[in-house]
Amino acid sequence: MSSLDPSQIAALLKEDAERATTGRRGPKVDPTLDRTLPTWWKLNHHMCLSDCPHRQEEGNTTHKACWNPECKDPRPSSDLGTNIVVAVKGQFICRYCFLAGYLLGDS
Ligand SMILES: [Zn+2]
Ligand SMILES: [Zn+2]
Repeated sequence: MSSLDPSQIAALLKEDAERATTGRRGPKVDPTLDRTLPTWWKLNHHMCLSDCPHRQEEGNTTHKACWNPECKDPRPSSDLGTNIVVAVKGQFICRYCFLAGYLLGDS
């Protein structure tokens, strides 16, 4: 730990600065509560293709990638993007439903 060169020190300082701005909320906060596009891109996306077991899982009444019966996704089901979902409260929802606030507030 004795001989850090200036670029290593700069990198460490940068890490600290980033942690100060992003780590403030602590690990307990549900990241899916913030329904903004930047947050969406940070979440763990799942590509739920038509043969994925989620499609038949109990709780998935739509048998689609997005479990919202009133899915807000305007894209045709031929668009591969419709298969990209994230887990929110044990369900999988698409970007449109995420941004629309689906499952927000339900406990
Ligand atoms: Zn899946
Ligand atoms: Zn949806």
